[in-house]
Amino acid sequence: MDVDRYRVRPGVSVNLAEFDPNEKTLFDGGKDEGKTAIKTLNLRLEALQELLYAENRHKMLIVLQGMDTSGKDGVIRHVFDGVNPQGVKVAGFKVPTPLELAHDYLWRVHPHTPGRGEIVIFNRSHYEDVLVVRVHGLVSKEVWERRYDHITAFEKLLADEGTTILKFFLHISKEEQKQRLQARLDTPDKQWKFSTGDLAERKLWDDYMAAYEAVLSRTSTDYAPWYIVPSDRKWYRNLVISHAIINSLEGLQMRYPEAEAGLETVVID
Ligand code: ADP
Repeated sequence: MDVDRYRVRPGVSVNLAEFDPNEKTLFDGGKDEGKTAIKTLNLRLEALQELLYAENRHKMLIVLQGMDTSGKDGVIRHVFDGVNPQGVKVAGFKVPTPLELAHDYLWRVHPHTPGRGEIVIFNRSHYEDVLVVRVHGLVSKEVWERRYDHITAFEKLLADEGTTILKFFLHISKEEQKQRLQARLDTPDKQWKFSTGDLAERKLWDDYMAAYEAVLSRTSTDYAPWYIVPSDRKWYRNLVISHAIINSLEGLQMRYPEAEAGLETVVID
């Protein structure tokens, strides 16, 4: 699956209205086939992650962003199903604490970036500081406007120091969000996920889309590309992301470390 079609070319001005959140161009089958395909990909990812860990050379950072209900948690659950938890970490970024707010906005982010042999998934990220912060005017325009440059510089630093960065925008339609919020309301086991605050954010949908367009247009680079992932179909979203990660890991040409010399003569008593 050549998911490169979803990669945002550096410098291109993105208009999200041109991207259909419901398409499934790269997959002929339907939901059932899609779910089966994911299982095979899970095994490939498991093997690649083990290799990354064993080689202990590369680092991978995966950034997940999207509106409420877009499926950030679902991606973590399904795309990484079966992967050894020892080599993968998830860092979630919520409303900053007073201590975090007393520092620059990247202060809380940097310690969570991956070390050698690690994959780290950001569930939300430093991009909140040009998304929710911009939409709600939590800092002045002058302050958020210069952050795009900070962010690309920060990611360049990580990339220069050996981090492979992949960023996914989970693109859902406003109608799909309505249905997912309604499902949370109607299902007792999902009600804990429902927050009336989500409805306030939903009212700001157009402002969020404008803020996402700025992010996608200004911060997709060769060293840290954004992918706009059609996400109205959960299984297709998982397939696209899974392929993007696997393609990227395969491109690293990893190898298991050399075994110790003379192992063929070793006898275990
Ligand atoms: P989830 O990620 O599952 O939606 P929450 O419902 O706790 O988790 O949402 C986290 C909230 O924290 C989001 O509304 C997000 O916009 C907010 N948030 C994250 N980073 C920041 C930030 N830097 N400034 C303000 N709010 C933030």
